[in-house]
Parts: sequence; structure tokens; C-alpha cells
Amino acid sequence: AATGGTDVRAELLAADADFLWHPWSPSRVNPDTVLAVSGDGCEIRDADGRTYLDAKSSGLNATLGYGSRPVIDAVAGQLARLMTYDTGEGANEPAIRLAERIAGLTGPRLTRTFFCNSGSEAAEAAIRIARFYHAVRGERQRGLVVSFENAYHGATLGAAASSAGASPVSAEFTPAGFVTLPGRTDALRDFLAGQGDRTAAVLLEPVQARGAHQVPDDRLREVRELCRRYGALLILDEVTTGFGRTGRMFGYQHAGVEPDLLTTSKGLAAGYMSLAAVTTTEHVFDTFDTHRKQAGFVHGHTHSGHAAACAAGLAVLDVIERDGLVANAAARGTQLLTALDGVRGLPFVRDVRGRGLLAAVEFDGSPRASLVRRRMKEDGILVRRTGPNIVIAPPLIIDAGRTDRIAEAITAAAEAAA
Ligand code: PLP
Repeated sequence: AATGGTDVRAELLAADADFLWHPWSPSRVNPDTVLAVSGDGCEIRDADGRTYLDAKSSGLNATLGYGSRPVIDAVAGQLARLMTYDTGEGANEPAIRLAERIAGLTGPRLTRTFFCNSGSEAAEAAIRIARFYHAVRGERQRGLVVSFENAYHGATLGAAASSAGASPVSAEFTPAGFVTLPGRTDALRDFLAGQGDRTAAVLLEPVQARGAHQVPDDRLREVRELCRRYGALLILDEVTTGFGRTGRMFGYQHAGVEPDLLTTSKGLAAGYMSLAAVTTTEHVFDTFDTHRKQAGFVHGHTHSGHAAACAAGLAVLDVIERDGLVANAAARGTQLLTALDGVRGLPFVRDVRGRGLLAAVEFDGSPRASLVRRRMKEDGILVRRTGPNIVIAPPLIIDAGRTDRIAEAITAAAEAAA
């Protein structure tokens, strides 16, 4: 078993080099990669026995950290009882209960949840729902989907087309009907003034996962109002921000606006299972039945509403509520930003920003950020780099001591990178 030792590590890396195709390649893993073999709380252990504080929550998804007993027990129990049952033809209890539970958090308007398996699938489903919604109401010309620069909504066709700029190749593969605008409200206003009656939906993240750029609350309210005025549906992508990450249960709650469609994933099953959701209003849901003689939305996945994944989601929500993790994310996030005040003054630091436990330090370029990331790793702390940004997004269970440690490590690494 791969529980430690450099031989184990070397052997695994050799097999990795021969067989595993890593997403977001460089296709072959580099020799100083973290080869995780176990985890506990905020820490993971590498195959060489080294321990790291995971300040990026794996892929921003391990919001409860590692080894959360209630979630593990819930998943194991559900797997033994009934691993899943198809929600296309039928239903299963965890899927019903989790949809009901989400409505308790997103309601009273957003009460209807469609399950899928990844953030990309959730974006894809939301885009299809929006286009389908207008088409069944007799507005077939409303096909345009508007997103913003620097957004990331996923890697499938529609989601990637809504993430132009996130990938150097996406422009070549972009299907028709996807529009990328600068993040300013006047850009959206001008666009909708000309093309509002052809627009199906406007898609954005309250805080962008790539670099923690925040949509100011008043701008989000304005976007909401513009969508209403022009009849476009507002899709908020809370794949990263949903379920506590920003210090509220959902990012949209800071601005006091509601989307027509909400996509969530990472924090929903917290990395214990693969799960995502699109939550919408009764009005959007009913449109399909009313106009299609109950034929509904012709879309779905084999694992939509997977019972063990939904059991994980229910247990995750129990832990979030039991342990007050949304309030902890708010408190630790404030502590982190305060502790990073000194970094702000360094000459090659362009910005320090964040909301809750989604924060970023932006440097004067990717090479400097890469250097900082590497030094932090040597110091035992794992962070994510996107472009010139170091993104800090630890598990929501993090304590004050570890929060300070992250701030000290990034300060030291930034000073050393001068
Ligand atoms: N939307 C946002 C805001 C994300 O951060 C991500 C994931 O990185 C996605 C969508 C895509 O999710 P997934 O990687 O699960 O397909």
C-alpha cells in the first residue's frame, strides 16, 4: 500500500508517467508533484511521508477538509443500502431529500433542483434550460448566452464557450451564440440595448474562481435589473462560491439579489462524491410542462441524483450547519485579509482581494506567482496559481492558527520572491 517512503513514490510516479493523462495538462506530471495518499482535516500526506496544509481544498472542493466522519459514514451506509436508483425513470430518497434541503436554503423563489455530476454539466444544463425555456415560450430567436472576461464555467462545449479567455484554444472551438463581454456594467447595458431580444441568458460568478475577482454588490444588482428588463434569464455560477465559501451560504446573498438559475457543485458534496446541481424557480420549471404538454426538459445523465452522492450532500449540509462553517468562513476570511495587509505594500504585488475564504494575491506576472507557489510548497503549504494570482481557498473548517500560518507563509514567500 502507498502509505509512505520514497520507493513507493518513485514507483507510483513511474506508473503515472506511463498511464495517467492529467487534466489541465502539461500531460505528464512533473517530478515535484504532490502525490497524496491520505488526508486528515486541513492536511494531506504525500507518498514520501511529507505533510502539507492544503490551502486550496484539493480543487477548491474539499470544503470540509479530509476524513469527515459523518460524510464518510453517510456515503458508506447509502452504498450498502442502495448505491443509487435512476431518477429519470424513478426516484431515490437521498435525491428527494437533498432537493428539498437545498430549497430550504435557496427559497422561497428558487425551489426546484436538477442534479448532475460536475460544475461543467451544471453550466451546460443551465444554458440548455435557458434556451429551451425561451423556445417553448415561442421566442426561438433568443439563443445568445452572455458571459464575461476571465470567467470560468467549465470544460464542456457550452461551458467552455462561456469561458473564453480561460483557455488559449477555446476560441477555435466556440460554437455560435456565445458572447464574451468586458466585466463592466455599461458593456452589458450596451449589448442588451442592441441584442436584448435575442439574448437567452447572462451567466456569471459572484466571485470569479480564477483570481477571486469579485462582482461588486451594486453591479450584481444592476445586472439582475438589466436581465429583468430585457427578459434574459440570470444564471449565477456558484460552483465555487456556493455552500459557504464566501462567508454566506451563497455568494448572491451578499448583494440581496436572486438568479433565475443557480449552479452549484464543489461545496455540495465537498469532494466526497461527484455532485452538482441547477436550482431554479417554479416559474422556469412550470414553463416546460405548460408549454410541452408535460413532456418536460429532455436532458439528463445516468447519474443525475446519484443516491450515495446525494447522501454525501445531505451529510455535508449537516456538518456545515452543526459546526457553523459559514460563519467560520466569514471570520477566517476577514482574519486572512487583515493578516495579508503587509503583502499589499510590496512593490510587485498588484492586488490583494477576497471574500470569505476565497482570496487572491495578484503579482506582476505568472513567473513571480509560480515562484511564490513553489516557495510556499517548500514551506508545507499548497495554494493554487492561476495566471499572476495565488488563490487561497482552504477548507471552511480551518482554525485561526492555520489561517495565520498561510498568511505568514505567503508573506515570507512574496518577500523572498523580490
Ligand atoms: N464554474 C466554476 C466557477 C468553477 O470554478 C468550476 C471548476 O473549476 C466549474 C464551473 C467547472 O466545474 P467542474 O470542474 O466540476 O466541471
